[in-house]
This record gives sequence, C-alpha cells and structure tokens, in this order.
Amino acid sequence: MRSLAPDYIYTPVGLEANMVVAISDDGYISEIAPRTPDSPVTDPLPGVALLPGFVNTHSHVFQRALRGHTHRPLSQQDTFWTWRRAMYAEANRLDPDLLYTNALSAYREMLAAGYTTVGEFHYVHHQPGGRPYANPNAMSEAILQAGREAGIRVVLLMTAYARSGFDRPPEEEQRRFCAIAQYSRAHRLPLHVHADEQVAEIEQTRAACGCTPIELLERYDALHELTTIVHATHASAAEIELLARSGSTICLCPTTEGDLGDGIAPYAELLAADIPLAIGADSNTRLDPIEELRWAEYSARMRYQRRRVLVADEQTSPGPQLLAMGTKNGARALGLAGGEIAVGQPADFVALNLNHLSLAGWTSEDLLDVLFFGTSADVIAGTWVQGRSIAL
Ligand SMILES: [Zn+2]
Repeated sequence: MRSLAPDYIYTPVGLEANMVVAISDDGYISEIAPRTPDSPVTDPLPGVALLPGFVNTHSHVFQRALRGHTHRPLSQQDTFWTWRRAMYAEANRLDPDLLYTNALSAYREMLAAGYTTVGEFHYVHHQPGGRPYANPNAMSEAILQAGREAGIRVVLLMTAYARSGFDRPPEEEQRRFCAIAQYSRAHRLPLHVHADEQVAEIEQTRAACGCTPIELLERYDALHELTTIVHATHASAAEIELLARSGSTICLCPTTEGDLGDGIAPYAELLAADIPLAIGADSNTRLDPIEELRWAEYSARMRYQRRRVLVADEQTSPGPQLLAMGTKNGARALGLAGGEIAVGQPADFVALNLNHLSLAGWTSEDLLDVLFFGTSADVIAGTWVQGRSIAL
C-alpha cells in the first residue's frame, strides 16, 4: 500500500488541497482523505498537483517514425493523399522487431508527456505483400511487449481494412464489416472507425453508396455507445444528429489534423449535441496532451472567430472541459474505467510541477487554464500507471 501526499489533487469535485491518496497493492485508488499529522505517507510530493493521467485515444505508433520527414515536397501539390503514400512506404518497412523498437521509444515519449493510456489503432498485421507471419499475432505482440516494457496501458484496437476503395462490388466487404459491428455489440467491445476526415473520402462514399460515411455506419448498425468516430472533421448536421442519438464518441486529433491539412471539426455543433469528445495523437507527429488540447480549443476559436468554445457551459472556462476530453472521455471511448482521481479507479496520475516557470502566477481557480494555454508537457514531473511510478 502506497500513499501519496501532493499539495493538490484534481478530483471530480475540483482542485483539493492537502489530501492523501492511498493506492492498493493492485494499483487502484483505495482512499482519498484529508491529510492529518498522523496520515501515513509513503510519497510526500511537495510542489506537486496530481491530475488524472492523459489518454491518447487514437495512435498509430509506427507513424512516429515519419515525424518531420514528410514536409519536403512529395509531389506538385501535397495533401493528405501524398502524405498517405509516404506513410504506406514506412508501414512496408516494418517487421515485428522494428515495430517493437519504434513502439518502445514512442511509448516512453508518451509517458514522459503525461499519457498513461494509449488506444493503439493497429492495422499493420501482415508481412509486406500481405502474407501473415508464421505467428499471425507477431505484430500485435510486438506492440503489447513494447507497452509492457515502457509501462504504459495499451488498448489494442485490432483493425480490419476491408478494401482499398469503392471500385469493387461492395456486398462481400460490407458483410464482413457488418460482422465486425455485430461482434463489438455482442462482446461490449469498443469499435473505432476513421470517418469524415477528408472531403474526397465523403465524395467517394456518396458516389459508391449514395450516403455519407457516418450514414453508412448507421445503415450497418455500427453506431452505439462504444463506437468512436475518429476525426469527423467534415461531419454534416445530419451525421452529428446520428452520432448524438447513438451515444457515440468523437476522437479529435488536432495536431495531426493540422499537420495533414484535414480541416477543423465542427466543435461547437458537436458540443451542442452533447457528443463526448476525446483526443488522440494519431500520427504521433507531436506527443504532448497539453498542446493537443490547446489546439482543439485554438482551432475551434479560429473556425468560429470567438473565444472560449470548448466549455461545459457558459459560466465556465475551457480548462475543465479540456481535461475531461484528455482523460475520462478517452478512457470511456476505450471501454476502460478511469480518467478521474476517485476511489475505485485505477491509480493513473500525472504530477504537475507547480514550481515550473511556465505555471508561475497560477491560482486555484485557474490552474487548468494556465496549464492548457500557457505550458507544455515540460511541466509533467512524474507519471503513475496502475499505481506504479514510471521513471521518466
Ligand atoms: Zn488515424
């Protein structure tokens, strides 16, 4: 049993001072109580505020290798589609050993930045050319081994790419997709799907199926409470309505969407429809949850030309809403408990160094706003996953 005594903790109630957080041997929060002179404390944490660990809801870990290498001219006019060619070339280099090495390094970088959980949207299963490895799970096991070694919680999202485009008869592939949707419902498993990231993708879906991507998912019964739509950058009003009705989550990936020139999601409409929003580092071009969340709010401000878009209600600042997007909404999207500092939850924390220069001037009312608008992951001084302190 460990007990942590930071100066502050951020609980569902808000910022609380002088509390002790007890952690059971199996890594759950067993008690949160005011600190007294007799409190047993194994880890005094002066100058620290403890927040729930951040959740990177959507990652393709191998794409970390592309960081900074796709900004040179790849064609006459570079778009998502020319980037995608470079990304596929990188994917084709991978074998289980290289994937393990890349993932170990990227997961360590995530932990240092304050991500304690990652949803790994894993689609590189086979050898170049498409033949399965002798062990068909070799690539998945490489990812999970890297996660264990680094100490991050990995939710492996096994991904099926049914086809490359819309130029083949749909029936066979749609049956397969239908089976995936039914399986996720029957087994209460999270179902994550890229949709509405690119205008051309929507046009192709319309041409082939006579509806938009999210309407197509609805048609095949793939929208439910454990469904997460990744991006939804160009979601229409009708699609937003479908997502709201089904209880689906949307995972926004602002730094990747900016890097790829995808566009800016209709944040205000999504919030107004009460759709839970989460964040993902996606291509891992940048690993910093604070920056990811700042860019969600900043890109929304640029879209609507006003300030304070991502707020829970008119009376609040964005800080608490951004924290929810970065923590508990992501945990929910991955089918996990957690994302909050509360009794019974996994002990996943980040320690903010309250003496960091970029936090100077913070107050108990605006700590989260100072954090999200004025700092970077440099303020993260420690990370715990399931009660285990991770050496950064
Ligand atoms: Zn993605």
